[in-house]
Amino acid sequence: MVTNRSPERKKMSALESKILPLARELVRVKKQAEAMGLFTHHRELLECSGCDLVEDVAFDGRLMTYHRKSEDYSDSGLRFERLNNTTFRCPVCKTRLKATML
Ligand SMILES: [Zn+2]
Repeated sequence: MVTNRSPERKKMSALESKILPLARELVRVKKQAEAMGLFTHHRELLECSGCDLVEDVAFDGRLMTYHRKSEDYSDSGLRFERLNNTTFRCPVCKTRLKATML
């Protein structure tokens, strides 16, 4: 049986103490990447159901949007507005979209 006093429990603690700082570092780096406009693939890309605005990831990893009906697929400069963890609002037609979290 594994208890707080058993050697197994001590082994787990040693492992945890090695992993925890790494996990915190990952969270920090991810936040930094998001602040730089990089898409971290924590959710599926949004496609507006009310108009033709869709999200995509540029070659350099930055999140971008373009209009499906437009001829060129360059960044429109528009961004879906985040309302809470999973709900976004289209900047063009104001449709609310639920993002699928990955
Ligand atoms: Zn829209």
